[in-house]
Amino acid sequence: MFKVCDLTENVEQSDEPPSSTVSCRADAEEGSAAPEYGHLRKNGCWNDWKWQMSNRIRNLSQLLAFFPTLKNEIELPNVIKKYPLAITPYYASLIRRLDRTDPIFAQSVPQIRELENLDCLSEDPLEENEDMPVPGLVHRYPDRALLIITTTCSTYCRHCTRKRVAGTRETSISPRRLAQVSAYLNAHPEISDVIVSGGDPLTMPTDALEKVLSTLRSIPSVEIIRIGTRTPVVLPQRITDELTDMLRKYHPLWINTHFNHPNELTPESAQACARLANAGIPLGNQSVLLRGVNDNPAVFEQLCRGLVRMRVRPYYLFQCDLVKGVEHFRTPLSRGIEIMEYLRGRLSGLAIPTFVVDAPHGGGKIPVLPNYIVSVSPTHTVLRNFEGMLVNYPEPGTNNAAIPQPGKHSLSSVWDLATGRSSAIVPGNTKRYQRRKNIVKNEGPAAVQEKF
Ligand SMILES: *Cc1c(COP(=O)(O)O)cnc(C)c1O
Ligand code: SF4
Repeated sequence: MFKVCDLTENVEQSDEPPSSTVSCRADAEEGSAAPEYGHLRKNGCWNDWKWQMSNRIRNLSQLLAFFPTLKNEIELPNVIKKYPLAITPYYASLIRRLDRTDPIFAQSVPQIRELENLDCLSEDPLEENEDMPVPGLVHRYPDRALLIITTTCSTYCRHCTRKRVAGTRETSISPRRLAQVSAYLNAHPEISDVIVSGGDPLTMPTDALEKVLSTLRSIPSVEIIRIGTRTPVVLPQRITDELTDMLRKYHPLWINTHFNHPNELTPESAQACARLANAGIPLGNQSVLLRGVNDNPAVFEQLCRGLVRMRVRPYYLFQCDLVKGVEHFRTPLSRGIEIMEYLRGRLSGLAIPTFVVDAPHGGGKIPVLPNYIVSVSPTHTVLRNFEGMLVNYPEPGTNNAAIPQPGKHSLSSVWDLATGRSSAIVPGNTKRYQRRKNIVKNEGPAAVQEKF
């Protein structure tokens, strides 16, 4: 089912499903069920991103050749008709279990539940279409705008928030539209940051992408260009030297990518990120909290640690939007808060993303955190840390000496902290306090006064 790679192949033609009559040289047994990835990986085609693009799983028969157990899911043709299917051979090769408990499978293989509907869901819950002064340009915040330059992705994520756009047609921005965008940005110099998005911008041929970047760079008020792309995750072969040599001409350029699970951290994706970072491009990651995929504190911790090792800074963790076709991935908001509670204190702040709800009705991103403010008074704010220690933080000019002190560490209440009568309530049984107590025990009672 795999085509022989042809480096001259035009990627623009890739929306044609690959012909099943041409088989890859390395795919010895034509028509066999799941392909032997070992062979494919050794074949010269595998590392060619255009081969990966034109050999995507695009239709039901190709999908069933990979995953025969899906045969019984008769509604799948309707799902695929509504929300297109594409999976790169590379991304498919990361599947370890052929069912929905596998995080790669869950993110890329269509399922019937995408057709579920509820009153609170819509095609465009963020109302992006209503914030578009020019089609494709979302101007929501005063100083930045998001530009959709293509509807193509190499792999269509089943949880995509732009399901209304991604893959419905595989097209890219026209020169006429780009000129309109440029005119709008020139007329709105308050926009200093443009996020190039899609679809996936890095599925475009390098010269077509360069036209967009050079147009944006020619606008004096545009300071920062950002690209949002899932390519390092689903098509890392795309990050070639040819691409990074082009990208580095348009600094300051930032890239946000979209890793959701530690199984996506592979030698290939690490190399793709290294190439981008070596081209001087700061890398961030935007994850989506997905039920059954990454809604587990320990799994998410592993992802964050792995990303930092790859020089990718976890930037946002998104609560699932109220978008049609994604309901089965949605978690309670409390799950995200629980994960944030777990991460803080355990991981460096460098590895902790901001958990956000992208508000319905185009309200924008709203950060959501566990409560760290326990109480406030005119003189003190009572905070808690990850261990449950309560401390007060005095406002400027607060003079505790003026407040009657019942004793620094008498049994105190939150009110005592808020009014400055006491400065901390310390949990007795955390590892850290046990360690402190041992130091104190060894150093004698005088140290008790100093250390507590
Ligand atoms: C997310 C988003 C941005 C960028 O927001 P940051 O917080 O700066 O990353 C800009 N415009 C739109 C429409 C967005 O959805
Ligand atoms: S890569 Fe991005 S735009 Fe494309 S399907 Fe995935 S989430 Fe949607």
